[in-house]
Amino acid sequence: QAKQDGRGIWRLFCTEMDLETTKNYQLEQEVKTALQQQQFILHYQPIIDLATENTAGFEALIRWQHPSRGFIAPNDFIPLAEELGLMSQIDLYVVRTAVEQIQRWRFDYATEFYVSVNISGRSFSEIDFADKVLELLRTLGVPASYLAIEITERALIDKIGQAKISINNLRDAGVKVLLDDFGTGYSSLSYLHEFQLDVLKIDRTFIAGIRPRIQENPVVNTIITLAKTLHLKVIAEGIETSLQRKLLTELGCDAGQGYWFAKPMPAREAVEWLK
Ligand code: C2E
Ligand code: MG
Ligand code: MG
Ligand code: MG
Repeated sequence: QAKQDGRGIWRLFCTEMDLETTKNYQLEQEVKTALQQQQFILHYQPIIDLATENTAGFEALIRWQHPSRGFIAPNDFIPLAEELGLMSQIDLYVVRTAVEQIQRWRFDYATEFYVSVNISGRSFSEIDFADKVLELLRTLGVPASYLAIEITERALIDKIGQAKISINNLRDAGVKVLLDDFGTGYSSLSYLHEFQLDVLKIDRTFIAGIRPRIQENPVVNTIITLAKTLHLKVIAEGIETSLQRKLLTELGCDAGQGYWFAKPMPAREAVEWLK
């Protein structure tokens, strides 16, 4: 309306804040459309058992195939979507899509595997989050052991009480709970024994910093030892070289993922990988 009245007036209304509001409103609309039109797709990155080299599971990673903007990486829309309170819709969509995928793969592949889904802190600490996930598994007839949920340290800190309830409800039913990007963020060790978790995922910055000789890696070594002491499994993320894979195996790391094994790939390619 203002625009038709001439550029001067348009400029008058167009303060920085208005622009931001307009942009946010636009993103909100676009996310809703994206959910309806299935513009969000999941890619799957294999998680490899380091001792046996078998595929233990996959991490599901969202991609936005926007009709006009093209491919949008998660780090380019998730932070804003989180701020605008849009993540619970997206996260539930991702869980549903992943569980539907498991349902199809389960019968093509004899050995057990799991699909690990990233959940933003806000969604995770919603009161009915675990119930919604378990309901979905029941409806689609998928055993809980096929699903894992990845949360970051932040999700634990924000609403400690509710996070604990969500973790316990999911784990009691058999859904694994993984602590993602371990070692970055708050890195407060005090909460580790407060929460019952299944896996620590060592952040890839530590893996990128791995040095050639085994004794030169005290931090990675300590994280693995810590995990073992707490009866947790350890997954290393971002393995890019055979040296990293070799050292992590020697240090007793249970599993790993990274470009050295495979990049995240569309479902159709991932199922070939499974076979
Ligand atoms: P993340 O959960 O820590 O995921 C690992 C990221 O590292 C992925 O980036 C993956 O593609 C990338 N990666 C895997 N192997 C390697 C490697 O060898 N080298 C390097 N340099 N990178 C590697 P991506 O897919 O861009 O996702 C970024 C982040 O966005 C994720 O970090 C996660 O926090 C978030 N995210 C992704 N998908 C979802 C989702 O469906 N829901 C939510 N809430 N967050 C998601
Ligand atoms: Mg993750
Ligand atoms: Mg991670
Ligand atoms: Mg990360």
